[in-house]
Amino acid sequence: MNSSVIHKAGWVVIDPWTIINDGYIRVESGLIKETGKGLCSGHIVDHGPGALLPVLVNAHTHLELCALKDKLLPEKGFRNWVENLINLRNSAGTENLRTGAINGVKELIESGCGVIGEISTLGLTWEIISNSSLKGVWFREFLGNVLHEEITCNRNKLLIKSIAGHAPHTLSPELLADLKNITRKENIPFSIHLAESKDEIFFLTTGKGIWADFMTERGIDFSGWNLPVETPVRYLEDLGVLDENTIAVHLIHADKKDFEILLRHNVRVCLCLRSNFNLHNMMPDLTGMLKAGIKPCLGTDSLASAESLSIFDEMAFVSKSFPSIPPAEILAMATVNGASSLGFGEMFGTLAPEKCAAFVYVPVDVSSKSGLLQALVNADFKEPCKTVLPTNATSI
Ligand SMILES: [Zn+2]
Repeated sequence: MNSSVIHKAGWVVIDPWTIINDGYIRVESGLIKETGKGLCSGHIVDHGPGALLPVLVNAHTHLELCALKDKLLPEKGFRNWVENLINLRNSAGTENLRTGAINGVKELIESGCGVIGEISTLGLTWEIISNSSLKGVWFREFLGNVLHEEITCNRNKLLIKSIAGHAPHTLSPELLADLKNITRKENIPFSIHLAESKDEIFFLTTGKGIWADFMTERGIDFSGWNLPVETPVRYLEDLGVLDENTIAVHLIHADKKDFEILLRHNVRVCLCLRSNFNLHNMMPDLTGMLKAGIKPCLGTDSLASAESLSIFDEMAFVSKSFPSIPPAEILAMATVNGASSLGFGEMFGTLAPEKCAAFVYVPVDVSSKSGLLQALVNADFKEPCKTVLPTNATSI
């Protein structure tokens, strides 16, 4: 019996550089079998004159903070924000945080996302994501000097359970290296916030400042951390943490030499520009990164620092903030770069045969490929998009 389904649309975006007008995708058992143009026969689902594209990848989010939406956004000053965040999260109660995360999953799927990098500080979201149709990596996040619990990591085909180190200024060098080593043994992604705030830079490069005071107040002893260091990126290089399975998130304060180091070690880079702008009133040197050859992916960070979990909104912000970056590059950040950064380049990121049939229909009204790319990266569509995710994808 032929159980294939043909998904048709005005445009099929195989990848940002390969776009078919009047195209189709033939799907069988949750996998893409063929893409093509024009007439086709069989069981056809015609989505409309808009575009089908690979599901978007939100490579860095914190769903446990969805319940804090609108409570912290106007807050300026990173240290205040962190303190208030911890207080609010503690007082919100587990059930509220869980409900927020469930709503967050819904928001992600409704905004075209199918693959995520979720950072879980409290361990509340593994079950929620396992029970959803989202795929990607669930990172249990750690900070401090010592590990107080046993860690389990594993690689299911489409949902990986892994580890994130919070940041180099909140983790002892020993624990940071240990966490990375656990993920290295499993050959799975490791995520870390890096070079995000001025406080982090000042602390790491001097061993002093308000972050030093903040740590002391919270009882974290950093006297054995061998500070100062040159830059956060060079520090991680010395600790042996940089490789193709490490995702460095933010990099607001990374310089050209840092970019060369990241490239040399094939480190994955994830940017969350709206969050950076809201929290720090600054953004990383994205143009410099692209010039250096880095292929960044995008994340939203949490609803405590960004207005939405939508990667379409994130692309629109990138496009508005960096108008000289070609739209195809921005779309690549949200799709193919994100999938490969999370270790899923073979299953997601493009609509190539044998990849997972996970795509989004976007109701754009355009007449050219360049107009299509512009509309996609500027979220220029009025009706909601429609995300198609295979329900049985874990059995693929
Ligand atoms: Zn984050």
